[in-house]
Amino acid sequence: GLPVLAVIGRPNVGKSTLVNRVLGRRVAVVQDTPGVTRDRVSYPAEWAGRRFTIVDTGGWEVDVEGLDSAVATQAEVAIAMSDAVILVVDATVGITETDAQVVRMLRRSGRPVVLAANKVDSPAQEGDAAALWNLGLGEPYAVSALHGRGSGDVLDAAMAIL
Ligand code: GDP
Ligand code: MG
Repeated sequence: GLPVLAVIGRPNVGKSTLVNRVLGRRVAVVQDTPGVTRDRVSYPAEWAGRRFTIVDTGGWEVDVEGLDSAVATQAEVAIAMSDAVILVVDATVGITETDAQVVRMLRRSGRPVVLAANKVDSPAQEGDAAALWNLGLGEPYAVSALHGRGSGDVLDAAMAIL
């Protein structure tokens, strides 16, 4: 089948917004698996002439006890089914313990990863992205998924590791 690119990260960092950047107007739900995995949605995607499956993870909008472990479980499953990962971090917030947990998971998995430092809506915020070099995942790509700023670069980088 097609290579699988998973988009993971904490709730509200902008994963779905970034996925919509990839999909443009051609949004199509291919799979919405039941039960514990219902929050993982796969879409057929194309970028820079490559066809692949992009997996959005989410569904943690409700703030419940054990949220972090729910994020961790979703991330673990998404990483396991992926060939490459985009880790989305909210550059305006910085690194939380949940982010650090997901980074450890990624390291153990050995999956190639591109780090998207999202919500960098203006050049003045690029320092927030640069701070994320500390994660040890290589270059943090400054992105505004909302406005489209930098989103092409992060997707090109993802294609290079997929
Ligand atoms: P997800 O939970 O990680 O899928 O995050 P969403 O894509 O649903 O986005 C969560 C919120 O962050 C929404 O209100 C988005 O409009 C907002 N958001 C996403 N990307 C950006 C961004 O680049 N800049 C800003 N300022 N807000 C963003
Ligand atoms: Mg989402």
